[in-house]
Amino acid sequence: MTNKFDNLYSQNKSRSFVLHLVRAYLPINKVQKYWGNHDGESDQLKNEKIRCCCCGTPLASIEEIWSKTVATPGVMEDQMKYSIDAMLNPDAHKDDKREDVPIVKAINGKVQAFTGDKTETKMCLACVKELLEFTQNMILRGDKQINFAIRKEMAKEFPDALETINGIQQKQKEDYEARKKRKLEEQNKPKEVKTSGSTNAFGDFLSPEQKAKLGIK
Ligand SMILES: [Zn+2]
Repeated sequence: MTNKFDNLYSQNKSRSFVLHLVRAYLPINKVQKYWGNHDGESDQLKNEKIRCCCCGTPLASIEEIWSKTVATPGVMEDQMKYSIDAMLNPDAHKDDKREDVPIVKAINGKVQAFTGDKTETKMCLACVKELLEFTQNMILRGDKQINFAIRKEMAKEFPDALETINGIQQKQKEDYEARKKRKLEEQNKPKEVKTSGSTNAFGDFLSPEQKAKLGIK
């Protein structure tokens, strides 16, 4: 199956839109169910017509789903009866469509809306999954813009982790520089010329008796 974001990203006019979605929806912990908007004055749930910004599927907010199912008399009873009947007579329901399910019918076949961070867009779950798959492929292919966008977003999400990593890298660099300096000093040190009869380093650690035994003066 081709990924719709491959196509959108390959076209100049929609490339920045895809980059906006990557920044808004990833890393994946930014994705959340959309709650719904309230009218400022009456505090009533706004009657929003939301569609997935990528595939156009009609979407519903959490509050719309709640108000049209749980909070509407009869809907949950119908759903319960339907579920029990589907369990007892599976053959009678094998050709049922999604819209035949009472709670789906109650929300006119809409699906849950998802949204991200700093975006007005809403998406269906299938498109969120496709965006994630597209981004993973682009990272593996080494696409510079996607890699840059993701790294920047992850840095914003995990500043502490980044600080730790930077700290470790700095420490490693210092250790390396110190080791390199020592190595150079060792190499540049004039070589000790051993003269016969002089005590060597080994002899310095021996007692006079031990030295006499080994024949070291
Ligand atoms: Zn969609």
